[in-house]
Amino acid sequence: MARKENYVVSNMNVESVLSMKGGKGEDSYDNNSKMQEQHARSVLHLLMEDLDGVRLSSAAAGAFVVADLGCSSGRNAINTMEFMINHLTEHYTVAAEEPPEFSAFFCDLPSNDFNTLFQLLPPSDGSSGSYFTAGLAGSFYRRLFPAKSVDFFYSAFSLHWLSQIPKEVMEKGSAAYNEGRVTIHGAKESTVNAYKKQFQSDLGAFLRSRSKELKPGGSMFLMLLGRTSPDPADQGAWILTFSTRYQDAWNDLVQEGLISSEKGDTFNIPIYTPSLEEFKEVVERDGAFIINKLQLFHGGSALIIDDPNDAVEISRAYVSLCRSLTGGLVDAHIGDQLGHELFSRLLSRAVAQAKELMDQFQLVHIVASLTLA
Ligand code: SAH
Repeated sequence: MARKENYVVSNMNVESVLSMKGGKGEDSYDNNSKMQEQHARSVLHLLMEDLDGVRLSSAAAGAFVVADLGCSSGRNAINTMEFMINHLTEHYTVAAEEPPEFSAFFCDLPSNDFNTLFQLLPPSDGSSGSYFTAGLAGSFYRRLFPAKSVDFFYSAFSLHWLSQIPKEVMEKGSAAYNEGRVTIHGAKESTVNAYKKQFQSDLGAFLRSRSKELKPGGSMFLMLLGRTSPDPADQGAWILTFSTRYQDAWNDLVQEGLISSEKGDTFNIPIYTPSLEEFKEVVERDGAFIINKLQLFHGGSALIIDDPNDAVEISRAYVSLCRSLTGGLVDAHIGDQLGHELFSRLLSRAVAQAKELMDQFQLVHIVASLTLA
């Protein structure tokens, strides 16, 4: 294939290309989010504890508003929303109080496939257990709601996505230039620090916005990728497994002359997995929230498959997952034709290493429950 780089999106605007792959096809998020579903299910007991502590408002005070931040386009968001609203309704019943009407907002970036999500949403009729739904497009690193209008925020598998790739990480000649890596796992200190600073500033902006939007006494349940190591250059097994094969596949394209090495080097995945300590530091510095719960949750393998001995099934699941998460970023960087080449190299590399993938692709999450101070 001829080298084709003229549709390069330089200075990539993460917000406009980040979203998970929409629709219902093989690589769509809806078809590749079983892992997130299973992991979300395994922390439902923690979410339940959190909901039990939620301050109930009276039906006369108007709708109880719940918002999912980073809902994506699959069924996961709807299942969790239903779970939360049923649990809250029960809560009112036990307290012998009339439940209010519920209003549920599904929020994601404007590039999210809201159409697929909308087709899955249940109709609302105001009866008990039902809820009114709305989609909201915008970045959760900015204001999304009017002041004091939301009772409960939920966000899963989203807050490890940064709002942007720090500029210096993509500038050849800069000390933070991330040469030969698609993530910051194992990267130079200056590169890692640039990502860490971005994370701190993003989470700070997230907290500031939410603290204004929550009603007094409101709270949030957050779940994001986290790491056990105090060293941010060790981003954890998930990122390591994800990025080494990915990097090898990029190198294949460079070696085959399909892209320049600079093109490969300037591809960066804007994910940062914080430690509990780093997360806590930002929350405490912001000061608007009390931490009720903050823990690491070892969620097991990221690959949910039928036959753990089937190398083809494992590698397909791995590549589909990578593509559902980062396909938009790849296409924006090298175009969809080369993107296709990249993922086919990734597949052949994954088949050869299926066993390691099964063993190493382990997820660790931060689970946090915060209440407005
Ligand atoms: N919560 C879902 C989806 C997680 S995928 C689940 O549990 O399965 C992560 C989602 O976060 C993506 O849909 C992505 O578009 C969204 N996201 C990432 N950064 C965002 C931002 N700044 N604002 C809003 N949504 C964001």
